[in-house]
Amino acid sequence: MKNQHVLILGGGFAGVESAIYLRKQGIQVTLVSDRDYLFIYPISIWIPVSKIPFEKATIPLKELQKVHGFNLVIDRVKSIDSANNSVILENQKINYDYLIVAIGANKIKLPGIENTMSICGAPDQSLVMKDRFDALLKKGSGKIAIGYGGNPKDKSGVRGGPAFEILFNFIHVLKQKKIRDNFELTFFAPMKELGKRMGDSGFAMLEKMFEKEKINKRTGKKIIEFSENKIIFEDKSTLESDYIMYIPASTGHAVLAKSDLAFSNSGFIKIDDNCKVDKTENVYAIGDIALIEGPDWIAKQGHIAEVMARNTAYNIGQQLKNSNKRKGYKDHLNILCVMDTGNGAAFTYRKADKDFIIPLPKVGHWLKQGWGYYYRNSKLNKFPRIPGM
Ligand SMILES: Cc1cc2nc3c(=O)[nH]c(=O)nc-3n(C[C@H](O)[C@H](O)[C@H](O)COP(=O)(O)OP(=O)(O)OC[C@H]3O[C@@H](n4cnc5c(N)ncnc54)[C@H](O)[C@@H]3O)c2cc1C
Repeated sequence: MKNQHVLILGGGFAGVESAIYLRKQGIQVTLVSDRDYLFIYPISIWIPVSKIPFEKATIPLKELQKVHGFNLVIDRVKSIDSANNSVILENQKINYDYLIVAIGANKIKLPGIENTMSICGAPDQSLVMKDRFDALLKKGSGKIAIGYGGNPKDKSGVRGGPAFEILFNFIHVLKQKKIRDNFELTFFAPMKELGKRMGDSGFAMLEKMFEKEKINKRTGKKIIEFSENKIIFEDKSTLESDYIMYIPASTGHAVLAKSDLAFSNSGFIKIDDNCKVDKTENVYAIGDIALIEGPDWIAKQGHIAEVMARNTAYNIGQQLKNSNKRKGYKDHLNILCVMDTGNGAAFTYRKADKDFIIPLPKVGHWLKQGWGYYYRNSKLNKFPRIPGM
């Protein structure tokens, strides 16, 4: 068993968690990533408002390698050849006994997207957002537009939460600086109702927050394209803005077009409940790149990526022992989010039979900060792990 080699593609939430849990079983692991750090996306929302420096949202993969003892290759995956158990990277080819694909998702690119910034894009976009927000603060007035897009082929790829977090964090800073009244804030999205995915309670709470904070809405209209300082909608109406933060919906990864793995028409890898890729025996896909089957409201989230990762490590371990025991991800599907507002947060939860949202002024913000601290230090074995987290 010790000689079997698991190759993991991707050094994000899913890839790193699966590496840790495979290494706990003594299995030989190589992790490939095109970045040399893990990016802690959930706390990156505080980079544009200068609450944390960029580095605080990163964990160097070398440090994780030292602690957990996996092989690390910094390189870009070009294609996957599962028929021959091999992966082509930009600089080498690697063979494997088992493969875990965890390279995240790509984004749907609307025309003129280069005129927008996204907190869900390449990590350094958060720094561009910070510089542009700082410039607006210096100017003292302006128009800010924040929004997200849809993917009609797969609703699980829509990411609205961080857009709300950026919006409320910006408002918090503007209020602190006593310049809120000098700014026009507009939220835009193709959906009619914002935050519906969180359930009726989340939707009602967001409505109230939007009214209280006097946020304009441009919703229910398809976004067609962007130009410099302008958003253009399907009915040809436009929204002018000095600052456009737009989170496009996710779609499959470009690498899949050059690979032989089965993917859905929305571009995500088709897996079974145990995360095993369709028509393969030794390939798994986890995290944002996997097609998640579940209720209409389900979202691709970090905690689901981690459940998939731990289950996959377990399932490979069982395969290596010739055992039939397996763990599935579908029972764990839920929405779990601490939506930060800069001076508090809302704890949102949704499962098949219930949904609720609990406002947590002040303490919610500390909770999310605490989670960031816990995430980093528990991954580096400096803190004991809380089961399931
Ligand atoms: C701003 C923001 C806030 C969020 N907040 C929350 C939250 O509060 N709660 C929650 O549960 N979820 C949250 N999420 C979602 C969560 O971050 C994602 O679901 C999670 O990161 C998915 O993990 P992943 O490993 O599948 O993908 P990623 O984290 O995207 O990791 C993909 C990895 O693959 C690497 N890679 C990509 N292409 C290649 C290639 N060709 N070759 C080699 N390596 C490659 C990347 O460098 C990266 O290391 C948030 C997301 C964002 C963007």
